Amino acid sequence: MKLCSACLLGVNCRYSGDTKPNKKVIALLKKETLIPVCPEQLGGLATPRDPSQIKDGRVFAIDGTDVTDAFKKGAEETLKIAKMYGITEAILKQRSPSCGYGKVYDGTFSKTVTKGIGVTAALLEEQGIRIQTEEDL
Ligand code: SF4
Repeated sequence: MKLCSACLLGVNCRYSGDTKPNKKVIALLKKETLIPVCPEQLGGLATPRDPSQIKDGRVFAIDGTDVTDAFKKGAEETLKIAKMYGITEAILKQRSPSCGYGKVYDGTFSKTVTKGIGVTAALLEEQGIRIQTEEDL
């Protein structure tokens, strides 16, 4: 059993109100249980919502609003679900300010990717959960 970014499984939870289904991730459902989570929704953010990016250790929506607290809450709630099921592995969506692992957007909203880690991915990793992204499959 693994945690999985819900948008990779076809849930319409992205900031834009749509989804990002990944064939390889969906195919895994035949072999194992994937628990869909969307940290941004779990943090209380609306869908659709303004896109957000990480800058200087905080998370900002495109209009400049500091949404770090909601992102942190979403990370805590995601960790709670992981602990509930004794989950030790997660498949997370690359480049997201919540779920990204190794790559995130650089905070300039210019589609520029930089090295980094999303708020939820960071908390899960800190707690010993092994993370893969859809790009690792
Ligand atoms: Fe997908 Fe994670 Fe963004 Fe939710 S927070 S839409 S699960 S990448």
